[in-house]
Amino acid sequence: MPTPTQPHHIVVVGAGFGGLAATRALARADVRITVVDQRNTQTFQPLLYQVATTTLAADDVAADVRGLLRRQRNVRVRMGRVSGIDLAGKTVHLDDGADLTFDSLVLAAGTVSNDFGISGVEAHGFALKSVDDATLLRNHVLRQIEEAAAAPGRASAGRLTFVVAGAGPTGVEMAGALSELLSHARADVPELADVPARIVLVEPTGTVLPPYAPATQAYTERALLERGVELRLDASVRAVDADSVTLDDGEVIASRTLVWAGGVRAHPLAAALGVPLTRGARVPVTDQLHLASHPDVFVIGDMAGPAGDGAALPQVAQVAIQMGAHTARVIRARLRGRTVPAFRYSDRGQMAIIGRGAGVAELARSMGGARIRGPLGWLAWLALHLVYLPGAQNRAQVLVRWLTGLVSPRGSARSILEPSRGVARADLPIDIAAIDAAHRRRHEGWHRAA
Ligand SMILES: Cc1cc2nc3c(=O)[nH]c(=O)nc-3n(C[C@H](O)[C@H](O)[C@H](O)COP(=O)(O)OP(=O)(O)OC[C@H]3O[C@@H](n4cnc5c(N)ncnc54)[C@H](O)[C@@H]3O)c2cc1C
Repeated sequence: MPTPTQPHHIVVVGAGFGGLAATRALARADVRITVVDQRNTQTFQPLLYQVATTTLAADDVAADVRGLLRRQRNVRVRMGRVSGIDLAGKTVHLDDGADLTFDSLVLAAGTVSNDFGISGVEAHGFALKSVDDATLLRNHVLRQIEEAAAAPGRASAGRLTFVVAGAGPTGVEMAGALSELLSHARADVPELADVPARIVLVEPTGTVLPPYAPATQAYTERALLERGVELRLDASVRAVDADSVTLDDGEVIASRTLVWAGGVRAHPLAAALGVPLTRGARVPVTDQLHLASHPDVFVIGDMAGPAGDGAALPQVAQVAIQMGAHTARVIRARLRGRTVPAFRYSDRGQMAIIGRGAGVAELARSMGGARIRGPLGWLAWLALHLVYLPGAQNRAQVLVRWLTGLVSPRGSARSILEPSRGVARADLPIDIAAIDAAHRRRHEGWHRAA
């Protein structure tokens, strides 16, 4: 138990939507909070596809965690990767050897990509979970365009064929954005004029945007087809290698790019809790969002499975934010010897964007139930994502890029970033060693003369 001089210590694992919502909601509580994240930034995952397709730069969607929490006096930020949890000893282990003890733990480490064991996805597929993933994919896509331009004949080997697996919002957004990127590339690069380019969206459930209304799905299919995206609904990826993607009906698509938006599973830390996991390796929690066996251990956001008797909630930002806020309420109430009503998710609706001027939004019944499609859906999506993007600086950067994109839509973040350490002297076409030696001789001459 905390001593009078040591307020209740809460360790929050994960500075994502859930972890930060919990932390912020505890701003006025008499507690100490340590926020641990493997990164120093919060990644705004809904905009990662725009980084991968050159509309935004990596830093636009990554907000500095210390900056976000700088005014909150009861918080310390610790960059580190949590590698284990000792529930009995109330300790979190970091992979740099440090241990953090807690009075309450809020576990909000999100998800990892799930390839369902499909051959080659891990080795050759591109996930879209982090800024690193998005940057890697952007580098790869831009390189495919450059290589196709350098040797147009060889482009038939699938350089400009992009396969996207999974037609949920991320897959739909990715396919739409790739089609726009390719049409700008064709306009910019005359060498690509005769090179065939394809975007193939693969989805096993028979429709795009599976949880949406049929009219929304029909509009989205039309909008994708108008943008030249080929749909393979009722199909799934069977195998991938460096040059091809094979579907379960035997179709082999020559492609060097599989974007994997086909599924996620809860972060492996879920398994460290020693409780039976539910579908997607998610952790079942009580209706107050803690482990039934450990009331001081809360699991929220994408890691959380069914809360109490309810069904598992969708793995979206609103769920994580509301769970974070509820966890803070529970902890505050407990410190005052009180209780709070069970967690209830307030659904606000769902939205996705297909491309410039085409978006869909379905508001929840409690919000009026409106269904919006087309330019208005697109604008609503942009406005909402700007509002929820963390960090004033990030919002300003993104707004500027979106506004300049209205005038010049070809994407402003086009560097192929492949940093490596040190000066690769062997790669330079000049003799650096000889220049260095001459430079040294000249200096020695100057010193002798002086
Ligand atoms: C490409 C993509 C697009 C999406 N689009 C939308 C959308 O349009 N709308 C929507 O509502 N939702 C969207 N989502 C889902 C949404 O991003 C998640 O539901 C939400 O981020 C979940 O919040 P969270 O707090 O559970 O986890 P996250 O926000 O993922 O945060 C987890 C944090 O834990 C940290 N972490 C992980 N492992 C460790 C470790 N071992 N040690 C320390 N820290 C660790 C991570 O660095 C991260 O900061 C999208 C997701 C993806 C991947």
